[in-house]
Amino acid sequence: MNSTTTEQPIIQFQGVEKWYGQFQVLTDINLDVKAGERIVICGPSGSGKSTLIRCINRLESVQKGRLLVDGIDLTAGGPNVDSVRREVGMVFQQFNLFPHLTILDNCTLAPMRSRGLSKAEAEERAMKYLTRVRIPEQAHKYPSQLSGGQQQRVAIARALCMSPRIMLFDEPTSALDPEMVKEVLDTMIGLAEDGMTMLCVTHEMGFARSVADRVIFMAEGRIVEQGAPRDFFTAPRDPRTQAFLGQIL
Ligand code: ADP
Ligand code: MG
Repeated sequence: MNSTTTEQPIIQFQGVEKWYGQFQVLTDINLDVKAGERIVICGPSGSGKSTLIRCINRLESVQKGRLLVDGIDLTAGGPNVDSVRREVGMVFQQFNLFPHLTILDNCTLAPMRSRGLSKAEAEERAMKYLTRVRIPEQAHKYPSQLSGGQQQRVAIARALCMSPRIMLFDEPTSALDPEMVKEVLDTMIGLAEDGMTMLCVTHEMGFARSVADRVIFMAEGRIVEQGAPRDFFTAPRDPRTQAFLGQIL
């Protein structure tokens, strides 16, 4: 057993606060995530969910408190901080594929540019992950030729091609037609079963119930409540959680 991955949290928020100008978007965030843990984050629109996970791959900086990812203190600066971004894959609501590149090229670009893989190595890796998300036959098409669900699976494969240790999902199924939600959730379930550390902002509560180790509820920039899905869904304590669940369940 690897003691560093089982004991030291892979992500640690310690008293994190963040402002956009005068507006405080995150307040007193304290959160430890263990390697391999699957976390679902939910809460009303504007509660800071996207901002919270974007801090983990440094798309956003924090102004107060400490944030450590894989032992590297992102709030301390220094040369190691850039390496964190490579360990963290992210999948967005809008798939953000490069429209002028084929599916294969979408998947090989970053590994060749920032991981130094040869074209052959990058293509081999890309086909491995496109197979894993069950669309290897789409490799030579362009994003606009694929359905939304297929594009989102490409986005997941593309992130996996960077060999991340952590995957962040920001409402990955919200832009999809209903019949495509399941194929994307199934892909995410497969990742979870393989032991990937995952933080998923989603309102897919069926996914949360079956996959999450922990559900976190945010409101007004704070973590209001968190717990194992069974407790969270059957006995939410905070009135804001109760009201939220009442609306979406
Ligand atoms: P959520 O993902 O829970 O909907 P966000 O993290 O996107 O919430 O946003 C939280 C709050 O911060 C919202 O009020 C939003 O308008 C505001 N916000 C988000 N991004 C910015 C930004 N770049 N500049 C200013 N305000 C922002
Ligand atoms: Mg959001």
